[in-house]
Amino acid sequence: MRLPKYIVYYLAEKKRIRLGLSPDPALDYHYWQSQGYLYSPPRALSGPLPLFSAQRLLSTFTHKPFVEQNATFLQRLRLKWRSHRSLTPPLDLPSLPSVGQQELESLMRGKLYLWQELARLWRGEDLASAVQRLVLDGKCQLTAAVGQDSWGRLVCRRCGSTRVEPDRWCCKDTTCFQCVECDALGKASTCTALVAMARTGQDIRRDVAVKLAFSLTAAQSAASRKLVEFVQNQTSHTCLLWAVCGAGKTEVSYEAARIVLAKGGRVLFAIPRRSVVRELAERFKGAIGGVPIQALYGGVSSEQRRREAPLVIATTHQVLRFYRNFDLVILDEVDAFPYRGSQMLQRGVERSLRPGGKRIYMTATPDRAMLERAKGERWDLVRIPVRPHGHPLPVPVPLIDPSLGEEPGRLPLRLLSIIESSPRLFLFVPSVRLCKAVAVKLAKTIPKVASCHAQDPQRDQKLLAFRNGEIRVLVATSVAERGITVPGAEVMVLFANSQLFDEGVLVQMAGRSGRAWDNPTGRVWFVANSQSQAMVEAIGQIKEQNHQAEQLRLLTVA
Ligand SMILES: [Zn+2]
Ligand SMILES: [Zn+2]
Repeated sequence: MRLPKYIVYYLAEKKRIRLGLSPDPALDYHYWQSQGYLYSPPRALSGPLPLFSAQRLLSTFTHKPFVEQNATFLQRLRLKWRSHRSLTPPLDLPSLPSVGQQELESLMRGKLYLWQELARLWRGEDLASAVQRLVLDGKCQLTAAVGQDSWGRLVCRRCGSTRVEPDRWCCKDTTCFQCVECDALGKASTCTALVAMARTGQDIRRDVAVKLAFSLTAAQSAASRKLVEFVQNQTSHTCLLWAVCGAGKTEVSYEAARIVLAKGGRVLFAIPRRSVVRELAERFKGAIGGVPIQALYGGVSSEQRRREAPLVIATTHQVLRFYRNFDLVILDEVDAFPYRGSQMLQRGVERSLRPGGKRIYMTATPDRAMLERAKGERWDLVRIPVRPHGHPLPVPVPLIDPSLGEEPGRLPLRLLSIIESSPRLFLFVPSVRLCKAVAVKLAKTIPKVASCHAQDPQRDQKLLAFRNGEIRVLVATSVAERGITVPGAEVMVLFANSQLFDEGVLVQMAGRSGRAWDNPTGRVWFVANSQSQAMVEAIGQIKEQNHQAEQLRLLTVA
């Protein structure tokens, strides 16, 4: 069902007036009558207009639409002069929608929809009237998806971006403006609406149980307890969980999530990569019993989207689909694309939280800005400085060779002998071009070498072959830096002083080494022709984590 046209109108009773917009002002009139108000019939201030124009017109009369207010004689005179006609209500007032209203509410609670999305999911009749009823009840917000801000600029109301572009082919007879920032989530434009409804009240209490196939280590249990304290604490609202690469931080958040869910709250676990969402949802299903779990990512069917679950596992972009819904949002890899530096997603996270809701940010490599913010805003800080196997993190060895050129043409012999001696080696380079060139160069003398980068269609197969041992040296761009565990792998970062490698990226790459239980140690080298600040800081951060682990007596070996 298409978005209807809206009429701007006002209702008056002596000195009291109420301005609004509606696809059918008679419906609104009937509604206020049923609430005991004795207004004269509505007077129109416009003909049927697109919602965008109707809202703009309404804002010239009032900033409090649908709210009854006092009006001076002059204001009433102005309205009367502007209203071109009095609307005669039909003898039979339109009936107030009530059938299906419950179903609509349950579909909308805590969500933010584009009109066309809601129309696809809604199975009842006359969506426009049903939504208008919720607007009049004050339960739901309806606004043009792209509207004007107080400066008159066009702005997307879903993602907050002002990057809107004209689209002449969208609607007949008019030029629509479309947001280019969030179009992957469905087209937000001046000719469609956003409908948002906050979740109010708590769900009923639930019996939720956490069952893990293994027990948490001392470091993990301590962190888990701190997260529980954080969700039970009334005063703090943000917590940074800083865990070394491979520390098992997902499991650490289960107990905190359980407590929120048991109280009837809702939890979102958001991660950057779509490929991990389903796998993670399965892990949660195995570990947390007693609540339905929903997995959300780009391209899920509308049937799946329709479901409602207290625990949602989703890609970070999906936060834009929620409105004041969650009591706890857990964000994994906050230091990484796409969350880092994205105003849109940061705003989206805030909007998906209920007032007073809490956030847990998880990362292995917080940058300085984040640590400073954490300090300034008094976030709770929880650290896991050690991996479950209790061995210290391998500390990178800087190999500085001033003769190392920009080209891989001649790699020092010393490097070649290290590469040859390593049982399994991640060889990271800064660019796709170098990735291919280094692999070609090495393959001349060393067997089982392959290259892998983001655009490589065989990326997944190669990572698998590397894991199985069919490939011994994998030359990769930093794409392979996160989220994969290859037992017994060692790490060499070539041209480690490249500007593309900041402290966080270097720590992540070094973190590919020494992860496995049966192979907890490993070697890491940073190779460059001069030492960069990022290299120094990355090595410093890793040493500091090991120091912290030692201080807390979390290391099982010296
Ligand atoms: Zn947008
Ligand atoms: Zn249009």
